[in-house]
Amino acid sequence: MKALYKTDDTFIKLCEVEEPYISEVDDVKIKVKYATLSSEDRNFNQESYYFSREGIVGHEMCGEIVELGDEAKRQGFKVGDKVGGIPIVHCGKCHLCKSNRFNCCLEIKLTTGTICEYVVWKSKQLVKLEDNTSYKSGCLIENMSSTIEVIEKVDISLGDSVAILGSGTCGLLAVALARVRGAKSITVIEPLEYRREMAKVYGADFIIDSTDKFINNKVMNITDFIGFDIIIDTSSSSEAVNGSLKYLSKGGKLILYCPFNTYEKINLDLQYIYINNIEISTVFFSNNKINKANMILENNNFESLINIEYPFEKAVEAFEMNKNIKYIKIGIKMP
Ligand SMILES: [Zn+2]
Repeated sequence: MKALYKTDDTFIKLCEVEEPYISEVDDVKIKVKYATLSSEDRNFNQESYYFSREGIVGHEMCGEIVELGDEAKRQGFKVGDKVGGIPIVHCGKCHLCKSNRFNCCLEIKLTTGTICEYVVWKSKQLVKLEDNTSYKSGCLIENMSSTIEVIEKVDISLGDSVAILGSGTCGLLAVALARVRGAKSITVIEPLEYRREMAKVYGADFIIDSTDKFINNKVMNITDFIGFDIIIDTSSSSEAVNGSLKYLSKGGKLILYCPFNTYEKINLDLQYIYINNIEISTVFFSNNKINKANMILENNNFESLINIEYPFEKAVEAFEMNKNIKYIKIGIKMP
């Protein structure tokens, strides 16, 4: 089969690789219909959670089941089903899985390598998409699952003032879900103008240019000189996170939602965090939110997040384009 393949830290190409096959009862073979690129894919030249030195790239996809094991069938999947999913597999046996913290599994595995004709994933990674969810929307299952995890973890409640750093895919989904949860005000802090405009469309009340030298005054005006109750970081910038601490209210919550540069050392002002009773938490993949994500995608159209599309034959070009953050999310339509 054809796949977008990384041969070393700097080189990717479309080439022929061996087609994956089913070997276990809970395996599901999927014909990939659509794949999307994320901000993590931007760092493909770093060895990280998402990338080994060599292999098929990408970790977001949606497709149709072409073959499956007996256990997957018993769970209700069948050939022809339209499925999306999350690219992590938990073991189900370790202490953390047994205490329902599947995204912290001690044996967690990532099934990266989705920009290719076929993948084999485990049935527990997948959800059957509703008829009116497009393949394009189905690629957002992972982003949506993680965003739900974030919103529930910081427990956005009626009347909270919320700030979101960055308005890429994760930031914009956070805006939409914070609105649904009843946030009193949603402020997006973002350096790029077209992304700030998207934040307005997705329901932000205030948008601030992160390079604005009067940002502190603006935050204080928006929050009546108290600071935000909650800050959600989707900026992948340690500088932005550090700078945002002073925009939090005392006892405020900061949640880190997007990965940082693998080689970057991050220093947070722990003394400031301590004396202001600031709560910090993180979300690195969701914990069992796939069905909720499916429901939300069924009833809402977030396709506008994927604002440029390439055919599979131009996947190398799509990867190059993904480096310059000119688009929210790049889609790759498979043959
Ligand atoms: Zn486990």
